Amino acid sequence: MLSSPRAVAYIDLGALEENCRSIRQRLNPATGLLGVVKADAYGHGALEVSRKLESIGIDYLGVATVDEGVDLRKGGITTPLLVMSGVFSWEEIDPVVRYDLTPVIYDDALLGRFAALSKEFARPVKVHVKFDTGMGRLGFKPAEAQRVAAILAAAPGLQTEGIMTHFPSPEVRDEYGLSQVRTFTKVVDTVRAAGLDPAYVHMSSSGAIVTYPEAHFSLVRAGISLYGSHPSRALEQALPLRQVMKVVARIAFCREFPAGVPLSYGRTYETPRHTRIAYIPVGYSDGYPRSLSNRGRVLIRGRECSIVGRVCMDWTLADVTGVDGVESGDEAILLGEGGSGTRICANEMAELAGTIPYEILCKISKRIKRVYI
Ligand SMILES: *Cc1c(COP(=O)(O)O)cnc(C)c1O
Repeated sequence: MLSSPRAVAYIDLGALEENCRSIRQRLNPATGLLGVVKADAYGHGALEVSRKLESIGIDYLGVATVDEGVDLRKGGITTPLLVMSGVFSWEEIDPVVRYDLTPVIYDDALLGRFAALSKEFARPVKVHVKFDTGMGRLGFKPAEAQRVAAILAAAPGLQTEGIMTHFPSPEVRDEYGLSQVRTFTKVVDTVRAAGLDPAYVHMSSSGAIVTYPEAHFSLVRAGISLYGSHPSRALEQALPLRQVMKVVARIAFCREFPAGVPLSYGRTYETPRHTRIAYIPVGYSDGYPRSLSNRGRVLIRGRECSIVGRVCMDWTLADVTGVDGVESGDEAILLGEGGSGTRICANEMAELAGTIPYEILCKISKRIKRVYI
């Protein structure tokens, strides 16, 4: 029987730090770095990742929800925290004030409520105001800048610390994105002319850090690049990064079959020859995508091995025919570096699975224990 764990996701905090450094090298020294740690730091563990980022002097951290921010504060994180999806109920305003979170204000409902309450706040509440320059999601229209700025300027308990927007296609430099930069620059000018002086002006997520250097302004928001992936593989050469997560499983047992035997659910694979199969005790309930059935690959003993048959809830089958000496207890690397120069990155898994690296990383489930190195 196996004495080591079934499967582990190693989180290399040294690689995280290196990625941070590589990103910072792209920035003007006066530009700050916001580390996006929403969705449990893209599956890497929000508290551990935030502690590491805080220890190396990250300027800001970004979460999606108030609950995510409160959890980090309760865990001892003192770095400013931007709540990028704002508040979803007025009950969430109390924890925003109590835990010193910075909500994003992106519509009149939020603006009106925060402005009305601002006199009662125990201390000024920092907010970042968001404009929609072309994403078609959150944000005031650029034409509303003057009106919004006037309301913010008149609310004594609100400190407009930031102004922001977002690219829908940060990985491609094109006229659409450049016109967003021009629109945003005008919005910033309008807001300043109305008497506000936001310390943080920000627009760029990971892709745009590489593709739109003129859009770094005073802060950039890096998510996926911190964790070692790019939103598009076309950017890999421009900014080399290290994969922070490595998912390793232990082969439970191996079996051999003659030609012509169907394997796993749906009998979608039939052995073409005498075949040796390694059984990996990880499946789609661990977040290993079922769409990698008959498509994915794993690294075993420094060799690439194909996934054969359907990925099950708890099991995945790999063809190890011809790989010397594979046995129960051997490592199967599902994501990360596998020795002898082999490597499976989240982008590659995503391509094979028909999705994006974000989804691959976020979905590695809690059933796989995170170990920090
Ligand atoms: C998630 C998110 C980011 C981070 O995007 P990456 O592509 O992971 O760098 C930045 N800004 C906003 C508003 C986001 O929601």
